[in-house]
Amino acid sequence: MTRAVLEQTIGGQVLAPGDDGYDEARTVWNAMVDRHPRFVVRCSDAADVAAALRYAREHDLEVGIRCGGHGIVGHAVPDGGLMLDLRPMGGVVVDPTTRRARVQGGALLGALDVAAQEHGLATTAGNVSHTGVGGLTLGGGMGWLARRHGLSCDNVVSFEVVTADGSIIRASADEHPELYWALRGGGGNFGVVTEFEFVLHPEPGRAISAEFHYPADQADAPMRRWRDLSTTAPREATFSATIGGQDVALGLVWVGDPDAGAAAIADLDAELTAVAEPTSRVVEPMSYLELQTREDDVKGYTWRRYWKGHYFDVLGDEVIDAVLARGAADLPNVSLQAYGGAIADVPDDATAFSRRDAAFEFVAASLWKDPAKDEARMAAARRYAGTMDRFANGAYVNVLGDDGVAGLRRAYSDEKLARLTAVKDEFDPDNVFHLNQNIRPSAG
Ligand SMILES: Cc1cc2nc3c(=O)[nH]c(=O)nc-3n(C[C@H](O)[C@H](O)[C@H](O)COP(=O)(O)OP(=O)(O)OC[C@H]3O[C@@H](n4cnc5c(N)ncnc54)[C@H](O)[C@@H]3O)c2cc1C
Repeated sequence: MTRAVLEQTIGGQVLAPGDDGYDEARTVWNAMVDRHPRFVVRCSDAADVAAALRYAREHDLEVGIRCGGHGIVGHAVPDGGLMLDLRPMGGVVVDPTTRRARVQGGALLGALDVAAQEHGLATTAGNVSHTGVGGLTLGGGMGWLARRHGLSCDNVVSFEVVTADGSIIRASADEHPELYWALRGGGGNFGVVTEFEFVLHPEPGRAISAEFHYPADQADAPMRRWRDLSTTAPREATFSATIGGQDVALGLVWVGDPDAGAAAIADLDAELTAVAEPTSRVVEPMSYLELQTREDDVKGYTWRRYWKGHYFDVLGDEVIDAVLARGAADLPNVSLQAYGGAIADVPDDATAFSRRDAAFEFVAASLWKDPAKDEARMAAARRYAGTMDRFANGAYVNVLGDDGVAGLRRAYSDEKLARLTAVKDEFDPDNVFHLNQNIRPSAG
């Protein structure tokens, strides 16, 4: 296994331990992930991806796919294997006439948002601009536009894919339709996506964020009112809540006409205040691009992290009680984000993505620096999220951890798992792409 052979077949750069850039390439969002690939291939195009895949298979190297590096388990980084670093393929080309964007497989969300907004357009992307289009879209893709335009994956009209045998194919409603179905929610199981073709929507780019803060021990009644109001919210509004320590922020994010947004926020303020006066209000008008970058954190890579997620079909009073029970120290931060709207308009069997009828997505996220605290912090997050297990109906595949088959069963129904397995059998029968929430081939 020589590096020279690999370098001869690759247009991009090959990195090995000790090379400049190697450590940067293997560093991902979760600082607990400290793995050392044998090679990192900085792919410059689909042909590089195909050549690197062939090399990995010939030399029996495990394959990891890196886009934004935000996958919480760090599947992108194979220990001793070959990492396909797609980030050199980070380009976005927008056609304002057809309202389509061609997005390379290693692009970050910020590149898509910026390129589309230059033409007064946008499509659904997640909340942090340094997340990868790749991992986010293949798992579903929730964002502030999803209640209006569907999930990110709902806006993909075609994919260019390098399959396990090195073929470069397209998947769309007309070409390989089962693969097209599976790529919209089934994750990185079926091939390396080297290009996403997205539908874009006219979007003037005005947003407002509103938060009403309460102490956790006084948030119960306002949170129930906030929950009730979420069920009739217009699609421009995504009700969201965050809980950090003992502070509970109830609110919404509005993307759309600013006057209508201001009126909706004034109504929410009046309704919540009628129940209990908040300790503070934070109402911030901003551009859509400011909204999409306000949670960015360039130093985020230094934190150790652990997540647990749930979907709730109903945010019942018992769930609110469980979420607000914040006795112990070192509890995870919590976010709740409303689904509904255009997400639920798409029939469940239209895509691999599942649980479209969820009312809210819940994520409990812990972060810490000291490795000595790993077990305690993970156990605390598991215990806290575990108190809500019985109310949950599944989980978002992109927030699953090392839950194995149990996690997959939370993300997909039995019917969908069977259909995903059939696609896996056709496109990756040897399970080359197994560093992911793995759909195993039936022979594997
Ligand atoms: C700070 C932060 C904010 C987030 N916000 C949101 C949010 O608003 N909405 C939301 O829905 N999710 C969100 N997520 C979750 C996010 O969707 C997942 O973590 C996702 O896996 C990140 O994708 P990535 O490309 O950055 O990660 P990577 O670690 O690079 O990739 C994760 C996996 O995706 C697959 N993959 C990636 N690119 C490709 C490709 N081109 N072809 C084939 N397979 C590929 C691979 O299996 C890879 O292991 C957030 C995560 C973080 C850390």
